[in-house]
Amino acid sequence: MSRSLYAFSVSHLQCPLIAKSTKVQYCAKNNIKFLAQNGGHSWVITFNIGPGDLVINLRLLSQVTFNGDKSQVTYGGGALISDIVTAAYANGVQVPTGNCNCVGTLGAILGGGFGRLMGLYGMGVDNLLSVNLVTADGRLQKVDASNADLWWALRGAGPNFGIVTSATMNSYPVPAATNGAYTGSLVFTNDKIEALVVALNNLVLEPPMAIFLYFANQGQPAVVAIPFYAGGTVDQYKSAFASIYAVGPIVDTSSFVAYNHLNDGSDSFCVKGMRKPSYGAGLNQMDPKAWRAVFNEYVKFLQNPGTQMSAVLMEYYSLQKAQTLPDSSSSYPFRHTVKFNALVIPWYSDPALDPVAEQFASTVRDLWRSTDNVAVNSTYVPELFFYRLFPPDSSLLRSKISSPLTLLAATSISPLATNRSKRYTARTSPGCKKSRRNTILQDNSTSSSLFQKVNRKRGRFGRWAGFHFFD
Ligand SMILES: Cc1cc2nc3c(=O)[nH]c(=O)nc-3n(C[C@H](O)[C@H](O)[C@H](O)COP(=O)(O)OP(=O)(O)OC[C@H]3O[C@@H](n4cnc5c(N)ncnc54)[C@H](O)[C@@H]3O)c2cc1C
Repeated sequence: MSRSLYAFSVSHLQCPLIAKSTKVQYCAKNNIKFLAQNGGHSWVITFNIGPGDLVINLRLLSQVTFNGDKSQVTYGGGALISDIVTAAYANGVQVPTGNCNCVGTLGAILGGGFGRLMGLYGMGVDNLLSVNLVTADGRLQKVDASNADLWWALRGAGPNFGIVTSATMNSYPVPAATNGAYTGSLVFTNDKIEALVVALNNLVLEPPMAIFLYFANQGQPAVVAIPFYAGGTVDQYKSAFASIYAVGPIVDTSSFVAYNHLNDGSDSFCVKGMRKPSYGAGLNQMDPKAWRAVFNEYVKFLQNPGTQMSAVLMEYYSLQKAQTLPDSSSSYPFRHTVKFNALVIPWYSDPALDPVAEQFASTVRDLWRSTDNVAVNSTYVPELFFYRLFPPDSSLLRSKISSPLTLLAATSISPLATNRSKRYTARTSPGCKKSRRNTILQDNSTSSSLFQKVNRKRGRFGRWAGFHFFD
């Protein structure tokens, strides 16, 4: 029977320098594998966690506080994006987080941290100031830029290096009247795909801007662009996206949306459960023919019963601020090579569709990859793997993910990144192989119970645990 384990007490937040995690120490001492969990979106069984291992639920660590002038926010390792957004809006600030309320703030930020406000503030990892981290030996320590190697590794490959119990990062005061953005859905008939893709490819994003492209099922396959302009006026918004408007949307729902409601439209992506073997690709350019072919593949896949929630999406953020730092500034390696992030999510329940979904998603990725103008596959790791519910082609995944470091290498993290990670791993690895009987998993989320079931059925064929030094 599964039950929850809320492993960290609040005292870790209050006394970070003297606290330790007895749970982690116990696991390390007794060779029990464990995995930190927050939003529970790791829809994968490639974690090498089984029924005898431990999932440490961080959700009670959800406090959010600000310093005196509101220029810094400190939050617990279990804070969801919704916790941050709510507290930020109430305090008259903006905090660079992700676009979906249900996601764990650090689950996103430790992988790089994409969000609509990236153009103004940079990536999530660029805004981290310090973290309190439980390392593999159960010690809790404050880590910041003075711990050069670990600091670099945490910001992009974070979940591999420890459990963050709290983090402090920049927050940005904004007047109440402008704490929000102009945004909305522009719906296009599908004959406009090529024109829209050309417009997106040529669009230069100023810092307040971002834009998303969706192929979604709205009774029939629809083409939707969602422009975003932080603050400003409606005229600035329309002028910034004039080239997109020129393509001729048939529906426009744009309006000013307050900061605390900006993520509301993404709630449908937060639905847990079902099967979502997603594939992603980082693109430096968007090719109209390739996107037409992707749309055709999407329409074809939707003809399978029960696939209506499937979607294709592309995120285009202003990189001006992020690119003021070099790729080597953190273990997220694509800020100078990837302009557009594309993701295909086949979404269904019937396991019999697994091969069809795999075929569809991998074909779409091949189409993107053949025209992306990027030398090697450069996918945003959290989206590529964290979205995956299961590895249908386990042998392929086994070969690609023989360890988290191979995983990073397989997704084209720079050689520097891989080498430095290896160095750090070697120093911190205590080893932890045997399993114990105490099956303790998280709350009642569907993803977790599916995760358990699939794990039992298919055995352990991935080795990507939250701590890679437990391989
Ligand atoms: C609906 C949806 C929307 C998304 N939107 C965005 C987005 O806008 N921007 C973006 O950058 N990404 C986005 N992602 C990707 C997302 O960042 C990853 O899926 C992320 O890892 C999810 O974190 P979680 O806490 O929700 O999941 P979990 O499964 O709880 O955690 C994911 C991983 O992070 C580790 N982890 C979580 N918390 C901690 C911690 N405190 N310390 C150490 N390790 C930790 C876990 O051990 C695990 O390895 C989205 C994903 C989904 C499903």
